[in-house]
Amino acid sequence: MPTYELPDLPYEYGALEPHYSARQVELHHDKHHAAYVKGANDALASFDVFRQQGASDSEQLRGLERALAFNVSGHLLHSLFWPSMRPDGGGEPDGELKAAIVEAFGSVDTLKKQLGLATTTLFGSGWGALVWEPMAGKVMVQQIYDHQANMSPANLPLLVIDGWEHAYYLQYENRKDEWINAFWNIVNWERVAARFDHARSSLSSSLLAMA
Ligand code: MN
Repeated sequence: MPTYELPDLPYEYGALEPHYSARQVELHHDKHHAAYVKGANDALASFDVFRQQGASDSEQLRGLERALAFNVSGHLLHSLFWPSMRPDGGGEPDGELKAAIVEAFGSVDTLKKQLGLATTTLFGSGWGALVWEPMAGKVMVQQIYDHQANMSPANLPLLVIDGWEHAYYLQYENRKDEWINAFWNIVNWERVAARFDHARSSLSSSLLAMA
């Protein structure tokens, strides 16, 4: 059995219509996400060959390390991305998540603006993310290049928006702003709040205790 597996979508392909089209979701999940899962498993298999050959080829090692980080991170972010959306989503967060957002950003609208801007202003491919930063004990916005660059290793992504062209181009063509605006109509704040609770309880002090 492969180490990494493509998770099923938590809804039908067309469940997020009209904000995210069935064909766009199908291609994105079944082809693009699947390719990162395959790439991650392929990288692990290539590491086996690398070791069998003596674990001494530095050029090969660099390539494999890049491939592993890129594909594993791509698999993780997409696995977080699908449940970050739901039919009849949208609205506003509430409770302690909302309080943490207001404390960090001033308002939910400001978070949406900053996270949207982080996603639309990427140079090339990447993601916008709301993350839990355990040392500060705060939520922050991160602009992630590719799947893994510009990302602090301790941060736990709570909400991720795919800013790669493959995420929206079939439906929105070059209108990336429209994709981001549409995302807010299907965002799954309940899932984000559950991740927030989990991150705070498991990551708030344990990392620094390990330091
Ligand atoms: Mn994607």
